[in-house]
Amino acid sequence: MDSQKKCPICGKPAIEAFKPFCSKRCADVDLNRWLTGSYVIPARDDEPVSDNDNTVPDYNEDDNI
Ligand SMILES: [Zn+2]
Repeated sequence: MDSQKKCPICGKPAIEAFKPFCSKRCADVDLNRWLTGSYVIPARDDEPVSDNDNTVPDYNEDDNI
């Protein structure tokens, strides 16, 4: 009865559609880890990440009128 795997990113029960992850978000996080080769991108979950991620993309800069 251990068919229920846990998400390697956040530890929540994995969902069939996103195996072995629990959500697309975690799947993206894992993918980004591979792409960047590091843990630069933190796993965003319901819990706020303190002191770690204040970077909000500045879309304005690219969209100057
Ligand atoms: Zn997860």
